[in-house]
Amino acid sequence: MQLTQPVSGPVPAARGVFCNRTLNLRSIQVIGYDMDYTLVHYNVEAWEERAYEHCKGKLADLGWPVAGLAFDPSMVARGLVVDTERGNLLKANRFGFVKKAMHGTHTLGFGEQREAYARTVVDLAEPRWIFLNTLFSLSEGCLYAQLVDLLDAGKLPGPMGYRELYERVRDKLDRAHFEGQLKAEVLANPSQFVVADPETALTLLDQKHAGKKLLLITNSEWAYTHSMMSWSIGQFLPNQGDWRALFDVIVVGARKPDFFTGNAPLFEVATEDGLLRPNIRSIAPGRAYFGGSAVQLEKHLGVSGDDVLYVGDHMFGDVHVTKRVLHWRTALVLRELEDEIAAIEAFSSTEGQLEEAMLLKQDMETELSRARLALQRLRCGCGPRPAESEQEIEARVQHLREALAELDTTVAPMARASAELLNPRWGLLTRAGNDKSHLARQIERYADIYTSRVSNLLYATPYVYLRSPRGSLPHDPVVPGGLPTSGVG
Ligand code: IMP
Ligand code: MG
Repeated sequence: MQLTQPVSGPVPAARGVFCNRTLNLRSIQVIGYDMDYTLVHYNVEAWEERAYEHCKGKLADLGWPVAGLAFDPSMVARGLVVDTERGNLLKANRFGFVKKAMHGTHTLGFGEQREAYARTVVDLAEPRWIFLNTLFSLSEGCLYAQLVDLLDAGKLPGPMGYRELYERVRDKLDRAHFEGQLKAEVLANPSQFVVADPETALTLLDQKHAGKKLLLITNSEWAYTHSMMSWSIGQFLPNQGDWRALFDVIVVGARKPDFFTGNAPLFEVATEDGLLRPNIRSIAPGRAYFGGSAVQLEKHLGVSGDDVLYVGDHMFGDVHVTKRVLHWRTALVLRELEDEIAAIEAFSSTEGQLEEAMLLKQDMETELSRARLALQRLRCGCGPRPAESEQEIEARVQHLREALAELDTTVAPMARASAELLNPRWGLLTRAGNDKSHLARQIERYADIYTSRVSNLLYATPYVYLRSPRGSLPHDPVVPGGLPTSGVG
């Protein structure tokens, strides 16, 4: 089995396992895995381009003038929010305040954004907001933004509002995923669509040999799952063995997130071509099942809550619900983290200069505020009389103002470059301005750990004790910049 990295020695930061809540993997009995974008990673541009085209085709069949539209993967990013009331795409910070916005494909200027959102807080519990939870959301977000332009230009059949437009896109994309054609294209040419990671198979084997029970819980149906798992995992097992032998329970067509909250019946996948058998008596390892519920699995395995670690890529469907409803331990797979960390690392020397300039700016602003207060007191004859004359203080104020304006010409381009890291429109996934993004907040709340890919657990080993860093607060002493120290590598 080919390893691209030695198991001992340092692991690059981008391949770390980052910890929000301390997790001792030794005490985990069961590790459940999602499949798509978790155990199986896709070439996002290729997969989403096809999903986009299938969805577009369905809209063209309705007579919509979409022929000139093309998928642009940089238009959107995971963690953005669709505002279905205004036809906008937004980036919100951890408090839900809007930090960047796009109406259709046009980025809102500061004034427009302020007017639209100064009194609005994004609350994902309200139906107005749609969170882009996974890499599967990129085609949806891009097409919606482009269609808002067409709707505004009066080119779509009406009357139709921004909400209804969103629902039309959603419906067509759902159909593209459910109907066979899109998946048939992927199955016919897996090397074009699937980015295999040879280390994933060994990661699962290590965990199994360490005594963990492994589960696969995917929304994909049987034929697709079997093919993708054989291609991504099976071919890297010793003697190219059957991937099913790794798992104690395999559930396809799971209908997450309802799987985690409901009580749907479980069927057995009785034949290789996916025929279902109802009324099963027991769950056997290495066999595939369809439907069912987490409650049923917990009962079958005799585990609950923090005995189980569930690993998935869907912020809501895999991570938020399992944490909130079942209190399982949770891991989010966020492949974009590798590019995010690379961009942060490449920018670190400029970031250092920016931080220094901002500290200087802060000192100068403090001095300016004090000089202005001294002038005010002098003119009002109130409070302690300053040692300098009025003219001297006025000259100092003037000098500080000019120096600050000069400093701003250095700060502005660095701040702009910092805001455009990774994606010129939206910046880093986990940052919004100087703050954490809404996505980062969701990760913090619901994912006990997060990492860019499953095989990073190979380096961490099944015996790792992941410790969360001491939480930082604004009054903590300032530590010079750099990446967080919570990664295990
Ligand atoms: P999982 O991540 O392994 O649970 O599987 C995700 C499944 O959901 C894949 O079969 C996708 O094709 C499907 N899927 C992803 N996005 C959508 C969507 O927007 N509508 C319907 N199905 C989707
Ligand atoms: Mg998934």
